[in-house]
Amino acid sequence: MKTWQEYIMNKSNQLFEKANQYIPAGVNSPIRAFQSVGCSPIFIKKAQGSIIEDVDNNQYIDYICSFGPLILGHSNPAVLEGINDVLSRGTSYGGPTEVEIDMAQIIVEAYSCIDKVRMVNSGTEATMSTIRVARGFTNRTKILKFEGCYHGHSDALLVKAGSGAITYGVPTSLGVPDDIVKDTIVCKYNDVNELIKIFEQYQNEIACVIVEPIGANMGVVPATKEFLTAIRTLTTSQNTILIFDEVITGFRTSFGGSYFGVEPDMICFGKIIGGGMPVGAYGGKKNLMDIVAPLGGVYQAGTLSGNSLAMHMGKNQLLYLKNNPKIYCDLDEKARYLQEGIYKNLRELNLKYTVNRESSLVCLFFTEQQVNNFEDANTSKIDIFNKYFKFLLEQGILIGPSQFEAMFLSTEHTKEQLDKTIEAIGVALEKAHQ
Ligand SMILES: *Cc1c(COP(=O)(O)O)cnc(C)c1O
Repeated sequence: MKTWQEYIMNKSNQLFEKANQYIPAGVNSPIRAFQSVGCSPIFIKKAQGSIIEDVDNNQYIDYICSFGPLILGHSNPAVLEGINDVLSRGTSYGGPTEVEIDMAQIIVEAYSCIDKVRMVNSGTEATMSTIRVARGFTNRTKILKFEGCYHGHSDALLVKAGSGAITYGVPTSLGVPDDIVKDTIVCKYNDVNELIKIFEQYQNEIACVIVEPIGANMGVVPATKEFLTAIRTLTTSQNTILIFDEVITGFRTSFGGSYFGVEPDMICFGKIIGGGMPVGAYGGKKNLMDIVAPLGGVYQAGTLSGNSLAMHMGKNQLLYLKNNPKIYCDLDEKARYLQEGIYKNLRELNLKYTVNRESSLVCLFFTEQQVNNFEDANTSKIDIFNKYFKFLLEQGILIGPSQFEAMFLSTEHTKEQLDKTIEAIGVALEKAHQ
């Protein structure tokens, strides 16, 4: 068997060297550099279904799936249907089109808490815009987020907590002025007591709470019913807007479902709703959405927002999901099978790690404790994960190059591929512990 070094040699390495001359770290989004796992990235040539192929012609079973959008796999004919016709008619006009209405209607009909929706070009734009709407609507400045939740890279949301204390945020990035994040309060995920304290301390001052109903950027960490219910009760009691960031989870766990019956005031989307095209969206009740320009005073715009290509592919993907609801049961089954397979491997190796799963999102944490928040996730042995990642790669299994990424399943992953993956995980786990 080839080692991963042999894999990445040749063309990927050459391209990476060249890319580094022209692009910071050679990539257009940090995670892609594989820096966290200490090797250079594979460059992708093409992908079909659940298989991705690199420029050195190595094939991998893909559990990145573009970090979430590709719930129907790569290049699914159902998603690509009619795309050539769209291309031949132009892709962006600076004027409204019918397909934008179709797209909005699908989303509005899927969620009872959404009356209207605006399309944007990324999840980052969606979350940023909801924060602005919430602040504009409530005329308050403070916002509350949770440790370990990622909401894109806009300034006010690039904050993590100071070790769970009730404190003003500290920016996670250079270039974010303290002044901009001073109104971002950070609370521990799944911690109802801390949440209650924060709402006592900042009584009627918080414009909005933004939360991932399933934490999917710290591995996979579902919110508890108690936690989500408490968020809803507290936000309602203080007229604070509750925003669900469903950029990863929207249309992944179900078609428009809620979490424990908790309804947010606004929802952010991205990833799946674009079918692999750059897209985002945010929606909510009419009274909130009608304060967006030009109806209201909250400004938000986009040259390419709602462009035909993204709308068309997104619509195709969403309609396919809507018309084939069994997909969600099948994905759930597959993910459970994978989770059980990983547990079986762990038992055989006498390892007691935690495997979190929520619908088709799976994450093996290299820690023996339960993972309910970011602090727990951080007890994972990253050095072991990094070895594990490479031992999987050399066996033709591609997972996100970070302990804090989920494994994403698609409809195209077969039982045979799952078996192969489980076997490879057994090997990788063993080798990573030698
Ligand atoms: C990916 C993601 C974002 C950011 O979306 P981009 O399209 O990368 O800007 C925001 N929130 C969550 C929960 C995400 O997973």
